[in-house]
Amino acid sequence: MAAPQFDAVVVGAGFGGMGAAIQLKELGLNNIAILEREDDLGGTWHVNRYPGLAVDIASVTYSYSFEPNPYWSRLFAPGRELKRYAEHVADKYDLRRHMRFGKVVEGARWDEESGFWVVNVAGEGSISARYLLTATGFLSQPHSPDIPGIDTFAGKIIHTTAWDDSYDLTDRKAAIIGTGATAVQLIPEVAKKVSALTVYQRTPIWVVPKVDTPIPGPVQKLFARVPTAQKAARLVNTGLLETMMVSAVLHYKQAKALNSGAAVLAAAHLRAQVRDPETRRKLTPHYSFGCKRPTFSNEYYPTFNKKHVHLETNSITRIEADGIVTADGHKTEIDTLILATGFNLWDVNFPAIEIIGREGRNLGKWWRDNRFQAYEGLAVPQFPNFLTLSSPYSYSGLSYFTTIETQMKHMKRLFGEMRSRKSEFFEVTENANADFLDRMTEKLGDSVFYAGSCEGSRSYYFNQHGEAAILRPTSTINAYREAGSFPLEDYVYA
Ligand code: NAP
Repeated sequence: MAAPQFDAVVVGAGFGGMGAAIQLKELGLNNIAILEREDDLGGTWHVNRYPGLAVDIASVTYSYSFEPNPYWSRLFAPGRELKRYAEHVADKYDLRRHMRFGKVVEGARWDEESGFWVVNVAGEGSISARYLLTATGFLSQPHSPDIPGIDTFAGKIIHTTAWDDSYDLTDRKAAIIGTGATAVQLIPEVAKKVSALTVYQRTPIWVVPKVDTPIPGPVQKLFARVPTAQKAARLVNTGLLETMMVSAVLHYKQAKALNSGAAVLAAAHLRAQVRDPETRRKLTPHYSFGCKRPTFSNEYYPTFNKKHVHLETNSITRIEADGIVTADGHKTEIDTLILATGFNLWDVNFPAIEIIGREGRNLGKWWRDNRFQAYEGLAVPQFPNFLTLSSPYSYSGLSYFTTIETQMKHMKRLFGEMRSRKSEFFEVTENANADFLDRMTEKLGDSVFYAGSCEGSRSYYFNQHGEAAILRPTSTINAYREAGSFPLEDYVYA
């Protein structure tokens, strides 16, 4: 039988796709193509360049554990350092020669006859591969609001994922729509430059203090010379995040006090930082901590004390050529409109491209008709030789690197088993997938998503059916352990 063009096609050259490619190469699969729609690597850290961009998970944890970077300049590194780190990893693990940029994958189809995936690349036709891995991220399809009149706005419109570095904000009259984690980082930076800033908030966000500090040269040198010191720092920080995430959010029923403690801390932070009681009231969330992704900042709240910054909570009725009109009839004149309106996860991103498996099963349609699901957050029945890395129930813990490394471990066990069986085919069984979904569904019952009060949070954790189907409701340790010990018979091999 003819061989496919590639052993594997990986879609996405962000940290997820790079992790998968590193694992494939370690397994001896070197004929791989990493297809990336953007013009460079780094995924979210290539696309996002807005002022204030930084990690909000401490950098010792937000990085590959097998490739620590001793030279982070701060506890929470700025975005450009993440981009440089991605470039370093690509060079060190010899990934660049596999990467092809500006390649928009339109879809992929399992070809039963050849036993290959046929991957369609816009403007280039199709390529074939034995294995297909999609690492297209969760937050990769920007959402621009469909507000009446937005097309008639005569000033400058910038979405945070398409930042225009050449546009000078000095003395502009700006509006920012949105108060998610992106806006929390961006608002203080924009406020420093513009003459007037109106922030349009629909739902307030929980913000806790950020314990950030530069990492002095001697500490960087220590991390470089004694890697165990950085490992220890990673362990402590990851443990803290795990407590916050798993206990306060996922084990909400058992650890309500911890969740309330986090909310009390955020409320005290707000009280200490915002002078005006009315502004404080508007910035106070009315849903349980963790329903929506909370964030860390010391600069967000004080920005609202500035005279030229206004928090608008009346809903937007329409946008005109020179301003925004709210439901109370008031018009705010602006020349710059910044959309910090996030991403579309559930309509266009699961999956990000059309994937057709055996017997014509369309993954997007199947997920919508039968609930969002993926065995261990990465395999789906009737989709042989396919791993979907940005999947329902795959995101484990607060640092995405935990998920990436868990998935790499799963790949190692799965491909190792295929090798020992001299097989080149795997497919997860319907039963294993159904059992996994049942287990996740049951565990979610303890989480803040179902046991807390999340009404009105408008959280992207929930899909169109009201299911919180992104986060894996187990500890990260459990996820990691299962990646190395899942029953091998959960897959069929041929
Ligand atoms: P987001 O959390 O989805 O926030 C989007 C914001 O836009 C929300 O406040 C939303 O209001 C508002 N919005 C959307 N459509 C609107 C409309 N038509 N009218 C008025 N308001 C509208 O997106 P994000 O801030 O980009 O953050 C997404 C995720 O990216 C974060 O949760 C985080 O996981 C990640 N992130 C991470 C970092 C980091 O440092 N690692 C930094 C930034 C972002 P509603 O809440 O009412 O829907």
